[in-house]
Amino acid sequence: MTAALPAVETPAALDELTGLVADGDVLVLSGAGLSTDSGIPDYRGATGSLRRHTPMTWQTFRRDPRGRHRYWARSYVGWPQMAAARPNAGHSAVARLQRAGLLGGVVTQNVDGLHQAAGARDVVELHGGLDRTVCLSCGDVASRAELHRRLRAANPAFGPRADEVNPDGDAELPDEVLDGFVMVDCRACGSGPLKPDVVFFGETVPRDRVDTCFRMLEESGSLLVLGSSLTVMSGYRFVLRAAELGIPVGAVNLGPTRGDAKVDVKVDAPLGAVLPELARRCGA
Ligand SMILES: [Zn+2]
Repeated sequence: MTAALPAVETPAALDELTGLVADGDVLVLSGAGLSTDSGIPDYRGATGSLRRHTPMTWQTFRRDPRGRHRYWARSYVGWPQMAAARPNAGHSAVARLQRAGLLGGVVTQNVDGLHQAAGARDVVELHGGLDRTVCLSCGDVASRAELHRRLRAANPAFGPRADEVNPDGDAELPDEVLDGFVMVDCRACGSGPLKPDVVFFGETVPRDRVDTCFRMLEESGSLLVLGSSLTVMSGYRFVLRAAELGIPVGAVNLGPTRGDAKVDVKVDAPLGAVLPELARRCGA
């Protein structure tokens, strides 16, 4: 079912966007706004939970064992909901556009794996993925699902009350509850600490990953930004580079983005309504 397109100015912009995407060789850059319909909180959007929690920073994670312990306890509680998230109509539309031969790769700022779950290929996870962990001592990469099984075995009685878990799966854990959580070590070296294989706030995206994305952009006919306010430079720099290279930029986002001045065609409407319609118009 396709929802009605709400924004008054949308039809003309959507016509223009359809033309851009139908030309093919599109590189998609997606952000949190694409996954909100899958129940994954947008930390920066209008309904974001940034106000409720300060997100974990790399500095805290690396230097503060207590902060790390708090992160893993909350992550343990929130994981079942994260793992149960399913791709939405927007992810499916992106995968269909790609199968129709109109997209090159997909660069995503999301760490939820939902593009891949919807069937997209050549996805570069700019900020990593929550489905795996990395050991900061030995570099071993392991599955997050396996870590969850190990944590369940190590914490048979651990769990906050239901009223301490927020609707988005995040949990407020009082200190006395936190003390009862047991974190496990790396299965490969017996040491650690383990880190989710994601780029934290305050951490730099690996240079080779950025270079890969820049090469993908240079080979593209256009850049299509989906559900990103482009607040962080890790995403915004692709819009800046596209402008330098004379590559046209389209964007679908609910609300303003930092890149609006450099975007050639912008559709300000919910992605779950726009993207299936865009795919349909492109014959995907
Ligand atoms: Zn290790």
